[in-house]
Amino acid sequence: ASGYAAPAPQAPVLPGWKHVYSGKVRDLYIPADAADAASAEQLLMVASDRISAYDWVLDSEIPDKGKVLTGLSLWWFDHLADVIGNHVISSDVPEAVRGRGLIVKNLSMFPVECVARGYLTGSGMSDYRATGSVCGIQLPAGLVEADRLEPPIFTPATKAELGEHDENVSFDAVAKTVGTETAEKLRDLTVEIYQRAEQIARERGIILADTKFEFGTLPDGAIVLGDEVLTPDSSRFWDAEGYEAGKTQSSFDKQFVRDWLTQESGWDKGSDTPPPALPAEVIEKTRARYIEAFEKLTGETFPG
Ligand code: ATP
Ligand code: MG
Repeated sequence: ASGYAAPAPQAPVLPGWKHVYSGKVRDLYIPADAADAASAEQLLMVASDRISAYDWVLDSEIPDKGKVLTGLSLWWFDHLADVIGNHVISSDVPEAVRGRGLIVKNLSMFPVECVARGYLTGSGMSDYRATGSVCGIQLPAGLVEADRLEPPIFTPATKAELGEHDENVSFDAVAKTVGTETAEKLRDLTVEIYQRAEQIARERGIILADTKFEFGTLPDGAIVLGDEVLTPDSSRFWDAEGYEAGKTQSSFDKQFVRDWLTQESGWDKGSDTPPPALPAEVIEKTRARYIEAFEKLTGETFPG
């Protein structure tokens, strides 16, 4: 039973925009002259430098994390453009959030977290241990932690209320919510985009173990990608070099944070006490790790 720290209410005030919502990491705005989020044509999505671990938003921020996440999302949107459209309008945002903010089309979002898994870990592994299947998909017996799944599987989840964990659901449950035809489209797109991204990441020494997409529709009905894509916050990246099935892989981004919290800080992850602030060294190492992920994947130098 882990706790949940309320989203830090430090969303910056931005000229021309009205703050409407903060998730654990991102702040959402609508144009100042829009009546409400439902009728706004555009949104401003800002990735903060906040970091969460074990479902807590930590007191410490990781400098440049928001820029890394936004830069990566943009890079992936570009590299996937021949497979799927996306919600991006522009990165010309107010000075205070430059590099971290994106102006996007306000989509009608499907209420489904579209997860693809090419490796078995996390909640997929837990479900497999309990039932031999994940989201209603029967898997072969004898699979071990971090085993590759070939072909990758679509393991949708429903968006949880604030503070709850997302819940894995079956394909049939998605079909009941959005209709069979749309559910099939979302499934096929999710797996196709995952396979493309997995291949791109692999060529760069990174294993994309699993990832979550959120799709929505444009006014003309076209399905496009929304939210962030293929970032360390929405995906599990593993270092291809140290990969070995049968053991827990270290996560590319938050390993220093998790290790310090559970092994050195004295904090009890099972308690309802918020975790302590991170030491400067852990912050710096984590920042370097995010930047390394950006540079390895994109092959570009992080603009800073
Ligand atoms: P958390 O991710 O912290 O668990 P969250 O998903 O509620 O919580 P964010 O991810 O910060 O918080 O919020 C982004 C919200 O904006 C999500 O609800 C997402 O579905 C929605 N969203 C993303 N892109 C679009 C878009 N183009 N149009 C409309 N809504 C969008
Ligand atoms: Mg989210």
